[in-house]
Amino acid sequence: MVLTLAVGEEPPGERRVALVPESVRRLSAAGHTVVVPPGAGAGAWIPDSAFSEAGATIGTAADGYAAADVVLTVAPPAPALVAQLRAGQTLIGMLQPLTSPGLVRELADRGITAVSLDGLPRTLSRAQAMDALTSQASVAGYRAVIEAAHAYGRYLPLLITAAGTAKPAEVLVLGAGVAGLQAMATARRLGAVVRGYDIRPETRQEVASLGAEFLELQSVRAGSGEGGYARMLDDRELAAQQAELDGHIARHDIVITTAQVPGRRPPLLVRGAAVERMKAGSVVVDMAASEHGGNVEGSVAGRTVVTANGVTVIGADDLASRMAGSASAAYSRNITALLLHLTRDGTLAIDLTDEVQAGVVVTHDGTVVHPATAARLAQPEGAPR
Ligand code: NAD
Repeated sequence: MVLTLAVGEEPPGERRVALVPESVRRLSAAGHTVVVPPGAGAGAWIPDSAFSEAGATIGTAADGYAAADVVLTVAPPAPALVAQLRAGQTLIGMLQPLTSPGLVRELADRGITAVSLDGLPRTLSRAQAMDALTSQASVAGYRAVIEAAHAYGRYLPLLITAAGTAKPAEVLVLGAGVAGLQAMATARRLGAVVRGYDIRPETRQEVASLGAEFLELQSVRAGSGEGGYARMLDDRELAAQQAELDGHIARHDIVITTAQVPGRRPPLLVRGAAVERMKAGSVVVDMAASEHGGNVEGSVAGRTVVTANGVTVIGADDLASRMAGSASAAYSRNITALLLHLTRDGTLAIDLTDEVQAGVVVTHDGTVVHPATAARLAQPEGAPR
């Protein structure tokens, strides 16, 4: 098969690349041809020469798309790229089908097979090597702490020096999924006092095992929803949760929010009133910030704002891209594992009876075959609620 790396992904400025040379070597050894457009790895500091040494052909994007059986992306592709694809080709990436109805419809109508790593069944142990949501969330959780530490004008650890003693920073992480746990671990490694909170009761133990303190809230009943994800809170519960969190937020120097409910708008956990009570110099990183809203009132995806009371609020929607080297290396292993799983005798074999494939194949033979995506497309607004 001919595999081509996409260039020109959404959002513009994406620095990650779908394959790194190590994977090109593995795929070439499996008999595939990999076409890499010039500069495809530049954002992750991978020169073209490293790709060609690993067995890739350096060729223009247009030639690559024309020759490709499979086009590999990280983020959803830009419209200009989609326009160059043709029926029978396959696009593999983190396509966010539940929030990209226009893209899904176009790919289906044009007979392109779309495979999205976002839909992978995550509790299946044989799929763990393909789990890009986990690998990218882990990188982003680490980077969230680095960004916060950078914006925070004080030490994170307790420091006793001849010039006096510095108190450790107090860090609160809301949401203890993959990103949140990595953020807690990173903040602990930097010496901060760390507290964590999540609606799912099973996270108590995970938070404690990192040396962080679990924040108990009295106003909300802990609980999990489907597939090990958070349950959706109703408006009354969310208001009670926000009100109780306000006081905790005010006494922390750094607050990192990571709360998500799959396919829904992120819950608002940090009200503007809570940010107003924080000390000048404090930092809030909203990892859920997106065009669909975030966890923090007033955060703007892709922007850093300093409030009137001196709190830096970072709308962090590109943290994995800011760690393009590590994120690309992990993503490349994930997408290669998936690609090899989908391949029989050197070509793609789509088989929706396979549990992994049923989760990731979104469009095939001109139809939307992924049930959750089809259901979302049938809703009038097509956007998360
Ligand atoms: P996510 O990105 O969907 O959400 C992040 C966190 O936000 C979750 O822990 C969620 O419980 C929390 N959250 C949502 N609403 C909240 C609210 N109102 N208040 C507080 N917290 C709230 O989650 P994720 O990181 O993708 O992981 C979700 C689940 O998937 C976890 O159970 C994780 O262990 C599981 N998982 C399993 C595997 C595996 O078994 N191999 C791999 C990855 C993830």
